[in-house]
Amino acid sequence: MSNLPEMFGSLVFNDVVMKERLPKATYKALQKTIKNGEPLDLEVADVVANAMKDWAIEKGVTHYTHWFQPMTGVTAEKHDSFISPTSNGQVIMEFSGKELIKGEPDASSFPSGGLRATFEARGYTAWDPTSYAFIKDGILCIPTAFCSYGGEVLDKKTPLLRSMKALSDQAVRVLKLFGVEAKSVLSTVGAEQEYFLIDEDVYKKRRDLLFTGRTLFGARAPKGQELEDHYFGSIKPRVSAYMNELDKELWKLGVLAKTKHNEVAPAQHELAPIYTSTNVATDHNQLTMEMMKKVAAHHHMVCLLHEKPFAGVNGSGKHNNWSISTDSGANLLDPGNTPSQNAQFMLFLTAVIKAVDDYQDLLRLTVASAGNDHRLGANEAPPAIVSVFLGDELGGIVDSIISGKPYKGAKESLIQIGVDTLPDIPKDTTDRNRTSPFAFTGNKFEFRMLGSSSSISCPNIFLNTIVAESLRQFADELEKAPKDNFNSAVSNLIRRTLTEHQRILFNGNNYSSEWVEEAQRRGLLNLKTSAEALPYYIEEKNIQLFARHKVFTKKEVFSRYEILLDNYCKVINIEALTMLDMTKKDILPAVIAYSKDLSDTILSKKQVSLDLPSDAEETLLRKISSLTSSLYHKVEALDAALLGVKEYPKEDECAKYYSTTVLNAMNELRAVADELEVLTAKSYWPFPSYGDMLFSIQ
Ligand code: ADP
Ligand code: MG
Repeated sequence: MSNLPEMFGSLVFNDVVMKERLPKATYKALQKTIKNGEPLDLEVADVVANAMKDWAIEKGVTHYTHWFQPMTGVTAEKHDSFISPTSNGQVIMEFSGKELIKGEPDASSFPSGGLRATFEARGYTAWDPTSYAFIKDGILCIPTAFCSYGGEVLDKKTPLLRSMKALSDQAVRVLKLFGVEAKSVLSTVGAEQEYFLIDEDVYKKRRDLLFTGRTLFGARAPKGQELEDHYFGSIKPRVSAYMNELDKELWKLGVLAKTKHNEVAPAQHELAPIYTSTNVATDHNQLTMEMMKKVAAHHHMVCLLHEKPFAGVNGSGKHNNWSISTDSGANLLDPGNTPSQNAQFMLFLTAVIKAVDDYQDLLRLTVASAGNDHRLGANEAPPAIVSVFLGDELGGIVDSIISGKPYKGAKESLIQIGVDTLPDIPKDTTDRNRTSPFAFTGNKFEFRMLGSSSSISCPNIFLNTIVAESLRQFADELEKAPKDNFNSAVSNLIRRTLTEHQRILFNGNNYSSEWVEEAQRRGLLNLKTSAEALPYYIEEKNIQLFARHKVFTKKEVFSRYEILLDNYCKVINIEALTMLDMTKKDILPAVIAYSKDLSDTILSKKQVSLDLPSDAEETLLRKISSLTSSLYHKVEALDAALLGVKEYPKEDECAKYYSTTVLNAMNELRAVADELEVLTAKSYWPFPSYGDMLFSIQ
């Protein structure tokens, strides 16, 4: 495609456009705001708004929106047109600085976890100038933070920006001790996104997919992923046309879509972008998910982002590749090649290891959702146990630091931090362990537990904050160390911290049952369900962590905790109701009709001649009748389970109840229905089968 560079970012009010269209002084003032987080004054905002409006109007745009990320996990927008009436009854197109930097959506229906009573329903939104404005569906979208009038944050962007600031502050302190004068430190993310594509006709016939995003029924198809013929397989023309259009749409929006391939399960695919700042990567991942769905419709397909749309084949996740670099672009998780760079690398590495161990609970709960509960620990995704993989080389170096014994690498040697250069850590051998939830991959960490549909904001808020906390403790200690003794202070700190936290390091197979036992012996958490994990949010140590780094107030932590629990319960409730609806309205009538036809056949055969064999029909009828009766009992049991919910008014207990009693009743109902599907003639079965869905695109 020869015009790709021209197309890239063509719908983005990016740096090039700003430089071109803003007066020099305005451009400079805006840059200052972007780089240093200084507030934007209204005069500057007026000029920027006007330039933005002119640029957008030239591209046929009539409306703008403050594009924000409320705690629903999806993005929200409310469109306003640029029109402003004139005295002679006509309109002119206007967009002021005030409208650019502040909007006031009526936000009473967004979840706030009790932070905002409906009578004061308005929140306000404020432009985040570190993320460029862009045009989507003919609307000028202004990336925005969303707060309540009380000042509490109601979105996923504000705390992310706060966490980036916290991490930067602490990392800059540590770097200073190494003589590195960084102005700021930036966390970067590349989020690999998995998804399924199925034909729209098939999708529309499944109310479970329509209402819940996943199949609540469905017997296994004769073929699944066992031949391993889909992974990196050749891409079908229809999918390829989709991927090409998706790439183009994303490029126009400035999203660095880079890699695309087929995934393990049939109908499963992946898209990976090139990494960028955490804030922009989060916006871009939201845009990517939105575009994935929109573009699918152009191809008569539906994109499923649910973590587990189909039982029996892999579900979809998201790999959050995360690193930190200085404002001059030096990656702090890159080992480097001088003793001092190595020492600095080891210290940052140790900070991450300590953070993951100290806050396993937070990392686990940040990926907790009703959908992701079906994936974690199901031999397709990391288990619910958080651990860190370093690879053989780096693992060996760490072992040697802890034990003080020589490192048995290419050259056997004792490792002296800050004095020696580290042995080479070849990048290609570091990524062998695909089962690890948190793997070092040469110059970044890959957090692999994320669900495919969720925003990457929260995992990165947590990652940034917990690493900021390790660095804070390190800086506190090292700033007190005598200057001439800095090397040994760093060395001691690294050895001590690694020794304290070595239980979190695991290079083996995370899918094995031995690891579950071993992890328990090591005292690591194994929080299998969201209901078990979420309550850790409000542990005192976590509230203190967020407060110390000014990421969340205690009130904000509680509100987020409540929203997550509430959402978890609601999702399972909708799934249970959908199951009941599909069973009562479709499955039961279908199997009853089939039974009747079988009985009629048996009777008519008998009328023709009593010695006509009808044992096949009779056996089938007997099996189906008995399963139908069982199905009916399971429906009653699920109905009863749902009635029981009201006995648990406390949200955490209610979530536990859903995760056990309600989900068990759902699983039992499904098992019977799936058995019936296998026995029932295809023309009677009310929904497309797994085979129809997973192989719908040829
Ligand atoms: P793979 O995982 O397929 O081997 P890569 O290691 O090249 O591929 O990268 C996977 C993802 O990690 C990509 O999205 C890439 O942009 C991202 N990535 C690479 N370097 C960094 C970094 N320093 N910070 C954050 N993400 C990164
Ligand atoms: Mg990867």
